[in-house]
Amino acid sequence: MNVLLTGGAGYIASHTLIELYAAGHTALVVDNLSNSNPESLKRVAKIIGIDSIPFIEGDVRDRALMTKVFDGNKIDAVIHFAGLKAVGESVQKPLEYYENNMNSTFVLVDVMRKHGCKNLIFSSSATVYGDPAQIPITESCPKGHCTNPYGQTKSMLEEVLMDVHKADPEWNIVLLRYFNPIGAHKSGLIGENPNGIPNNLMPYITQVAVGKLKELGIFGNDYPTPDGTGVRDFIHVVDLGRAHVAALGCIEKKQGLKIYNIGTGTGYSVLDIVNAFQKVNGIKVPYSFKPRRPGDIATCYCDPTLAYKELGWKAQYGIEDMCRDSWNWQKNNPNGYDK
Ligand code: NAD
Ligand code: UDP
Repeated sequence: MNVLLTGGAGYIASHTLIELYAAGHTALVVDNLSNSNPESLKRVAKIIGIDSIPFIEGDVRDRALMTKVFDGNKIDAVIHFAGLKAVGESVQKPLEYYENNMNSTFVLVDVMRKHGCKNLIFSSSATVYGDPAQIPITESCPKGHCTNPYGQTKSMLEEVLMDVHKADPEWNIVLLRYFNPIGAHKSGLIGENPNGIPNNLMPYITQVAVGKLKELGIFGNDYPTPDGTGVRDFIHVVDLGRAHVAALGCIEKKQGLKIYNIGTGTGYSVLDIVNAFQKVNGIKVPYSFKPRRPGDIATCYCDPTLAYKELGWKAQYGIEDMCRDSWNWQKNNPNGYDK
């Protein structure tokens, strides 16, 4: 298939590109570079061993541009990664988050249907479960209350896409609910490249390890978890990339609307991650305990059985791979893609 990746220069998409080409697909990218660097695409091409990844710099909300993209290319399916994703920032800038994430999806889906392309994979998130009603979380678990505008956009867009499918069953739509992606490609050439001080755990740890930040603050050690720190379902970003390839198989089989949890099914605590990182990389990560972060939940991990049963996908990498590969990326690129 020839696959359009919106937000294709970003963290998850850049790793997905490699897996798509490895599986025999081709791709093109639209990205406005609001949270990425085109250097990622150069490095992806190098890893794949091709001259370049076809890339159009632009905004998915730009209807004229998107029409031109679909007029000029035969696109079999779209993976819609583009979106703003920082939870804390979304609380400060709700309008920007609703406007970007909702409108980009509205424009994209409308242009797709006008061009008869009705195959879509959407980047959703475990955040749609809110404080989950059950652990491990299955897809039949009810969606919960999202405490921030970012999560609301994911939950609302899921509803929008379900309605699109209900109105026109020709659509094949896969909603992938990602758990906590970390890690990097084993080459160390691509990885997560956050702007400013990282909000997420692993980039914070790697920036402490590389000496850019002094110490990690662990948000809460009084949760009802085995060691008191938060528990999450961390998944290697390469495994996550492969889940998109598996979901394309589902699209090829024209299975209508599908929803899958994409995680490993194992919960690790913040302290588990810090300890594994120190052990596998032989490097100290100073930390201290801080108060709980508002909006955080104690425990979040999934039951990924459905993705295995229906897509034949399951995570291959473990926590040590994730810690080793995250560090390999950071130590080789202390300033990310900036020289
Ligand atoms: P990322 O910021 O690295 O990638 C998103 C890309 O979209 C960026 O390159 C950005 O420049 C681009 N973009 C944003 N708005 C755009 C627009 N209007 N037009 C064109 N390009 C636009 O983020 P990521 O971590 O790779 O996440 C990819 C997707 O997965 C996002 O939708 C995110 O919400 C979702 N997701 C991420 C996580 C996570 O922990 N990283 C978890 C669950 C879901
Ligand atoms: N966390 C932490 N210190 C940090 C960043 C995160 O202790 O600097 C904790 C956070 O409280 C949560 C876990 O690490 O328990 C994962 O947080 P992250 O922001 O990476 O992902 P989330 O699950 O919130 O999407």
